[in-house]
Formats: sequence, structure tokens, C-alpha cells
Amino acid sequence: MSTPIDDLDDIVRQLRTELDWALRTGIEVPSRRSAPVAAAATPEAEASPAQRAPATEARARADERPSASESPERADAQRSRERPTNEPRGRADEQRGRERPTNEPRGRGDAQRGRPNERPANDPRSRPFDGPPPQRRPVDEAPNRQPAPRQPAPLALLAETKTLGDVRDVLGDCTRCKLHSGRRQIVFGVGDPNAAIMFVGEGPGADEDRVGEPFVGKAGQLLTKIIESGMQLRRDEVYIANIVKCRPPRNRDPEPDEVEACEPFLKAQIRAVQPQVIIALGRYAAQTLLRDSTPITRMRGRWREYEGIPLMPTYHPAYLLRNPAEKRPVWEDIKLVMKKLGIGEGR
Ligand code: URA
Repeated sequence: MSTPIDDLDDIVRQLRTELDWALRTGIEVPSRRSAPVAAAATPEAEASPAQRAPATEARARADERPSASESPERADAQRSRERPTNEPRGRADEQRGRERPTNEPRGRGDAQRGRPNERPANDPRSRPFDGPPPQRRPVDEAPNRQPAPRQPAPLALLAETKTLGDVRDVLGDCTRCKLHSGRRQIVFGVGDPNAAIMFVGEGPGADEDRVGEPFVGKAGQLLTKIIESGMQLRRDEVYIANIVKCRPPRNRDPEPDEVEACEPFLKAQIRAVQPQVIIALGRYAAQTLLRDSTPITRMRGRWREYEGIPLMPTYHPAYLLRNPAEKRPVWEDIKLVMKKLGIGEGR
């Protein structure tokens, strides 16, 4: 029969185990009375991530993520945290892997969470954990496991930017307009940082949002054909950007407040690239850049200026996909650009 002293010993032992767990993992053990059966209290659950079998590790990681259905906002926030902007999806993960090879000394957070037990074997606290199961923290509360998001910098710093990299840094993990909540990633721009020709479209679509690069969908493939087959240039010899850098929901036109938030970054990109010619692709880009509501049918093919740079409005490649007969006038517009630059056929 157990005496009150035995009971007390048991309680003290149990408390020690729980304290030990909390110290090593940073996870508070829930009330013992309400704790479910110790399903996770296996040696695998105690091992460090590096020690876990891959399948166990994957399971553990899956458990740590809040599901997207739990809260779309959290899922979005998590997406942007997991994927530093302007990097193709997957690079962030790669980078996280590079940052800490498994045989390198690890951060304190990790050490606390799952370091192999280094206590002498005769230490009573070294025996296998037999207390209540640990509860994993949601990812949001485990900052040591997340790469630091790139904080958006004050807009005033844009005036000091010189390179595209500077502009990208000021943009950060932008939340300056409501489009940020629906994007997978920011679509910054792509191409030669010293390009003579800069194409400006409207905003990323689903493909661009997924890939992180402007004009990569069907319309983008047609634009690439215009550049490569028509202008005899490589796509990476021009620079391509959009009026807004985040995908508008259901591909609607960007709204005035969104343009207001994003255009300073496009302007800074233009200042960094210093193109000799801007080609505005489609009604929206042309009307927005020029602050002119003239229909694109009347604007196209006529030289205009944006911030002192010659600008040629032409039809959007998506429009050409629906109206292939309009490719001819676009080719005429492109020839005007080539003539101005003294390249190819237009010379
Ligand atoms: N349409 C645009 O205007 N921009 C893109 O990047 C893709 C499609």
C-alpha cells in the first residue's frame, strides 16, 4: 500500500519530468488531469529532428503546420513567411536546409526543443519521458524555426535606391495594399538590369503568382515569342515588370489604391534600369502610366513619354490570343521601337 510520502515522491518525480520536458522543448506540459494518453511520447518524438527517421520528421512537420482551412489569413501569412519574396518557391526551403547542415552546432531554440539527452545515465531525470504527451506549438509561436520575413522599409527610402536589389529590399515582404492578402508571392520583375527595353504589363495572373515571374503563362509565352522571334532578342535581354506586383483576385483590374501603393516601386525600377524605351502592354498599363483614358485602339502605335522616357503603347498579348488578327498592328508598334533603338529589322 502506498503511503502519503510515496505519493509525494511520485508527484515530485512527475513534476520534475514535466519541468525537464518544458526546459528542453520550450513546450509547456498541459494540465496532467486533462492530458490525453501519451501517443507522442515515443523515443522518436523525443529525438532531435536530425535523429528522427525521415517519415517521422515529415509527420512531425505536418503536425506543426496549421492547416489552410483553419484560417485562410494564417495560411497566407505562413505562405509569405515560408517563401522569401522574389524567390521561386522552394528556394526558401533549400536555403533553410543550407543554413544549418545537420552536423553543425544548432541554435538554442533547437537545442531546447530536441537535443539528445546529455545528462549522466544515473541522473534520475535521464529516464525516458513517461509523463503526459507534449503539445507542439503552432508554427507562429516557434520563431526560431522561421526565416525572418523581409520587413517592408519606409517608402521614403525608395528615393535613395540605385539598383533593382535596393528597390527589392525596400519593397520587402510588402503589405502596403490589400493585394498582399491574396498573393502567393510578390512578382517583382525579371530581366536585364540594364535593358534598353522595358515591358510593363498590368499585374501577375495565376501562373505568375505561382512561379514568381511576370509573363510566364500563355500570354507570357506569346510575349516571349514577340521578343525572341520578332525582335531577335533573348527574353533576358529586356526587362519585364507590371503595374502591380501582386495578383489581383480573379484577375480583376488593380484598383486605384493598389496602383498608388505599388507604382512608386515600378518608378524606382525604371530609374534603376534606365531603359531607352518602355512598351506599355495593353489598355490598363498604358492608361495607368500615362494617366490618360484614351482607348488603347487610339493610343497604340504613337510615341508617348513616361518620366521622360519614350513609351510605346500596344495591345496586351492576352488580347492577341483572343484576337490573332491584331498581331499585325502590334508588330508595327514593335518595329517602331526597334527603329528607335536601331536594332533588327526596324533599323
Ligand atoms: N498579364 C500581365 O499583365 N502581366 C503578367 O505578368 C501576366 C499576364
